[in-house]
Amino acid sequence: MALIKLIAEHLIPSALIGFTAYWLTGQGHLITIALLTGWLIDSDHLLDFFMAKWRGKIIDTWQTSIKSGSYFKSSGKIIVFLHSYELATLWLLVWGALGEWEIGIVGSFAWLIHLAIDHFSYSLNAYAYFLSYRVYKKFDINAICSEK
Ligand SMILES: [Zn+2]
Repeated sequence: MALIKLIAEHLIPSALIGFTAYWLTGQGHLITIALLTGWLIDSDHLLDFFMAKWRGKIIDTWQTSIKSGSYFKSSGKIIVFLHSYELATLWLLVWGALGEWEIGIVGSFAWLIHLAIDHFSYSLNAYAYFLSYRVYKKFDINAICSEK
């Protein structure tokens, strides 16, 4: 059940953004863009999981660890490098500079909606989704989460 929630809570808004963009512009690839930036950025959790695993910090089964996110607690680190206001902004600026404003706006908007949903779903420091803040705090879970 929790896994379905984890998948659907970002898939549905991303699909809505993508199909709305398609409806407004007639550009079908914007659906893919919205799903890529609004849904699939969660693939960065795999890096955190495997880094915790390589460091011998996984205490649950991998299924339980992935579903519950307990690898964050057991490793004491939160990296999730794609969960970043800076990268969402960079996406907009790079695609805009290339003259592809639709890709920039739709991708950046879906990305920011993902971050907003995550931010209000968890107890996080106000700066938690600034990658620079997490780097500055050395990805320390105690600095990133307001409660663990
Ligand atoms: Zn996320």
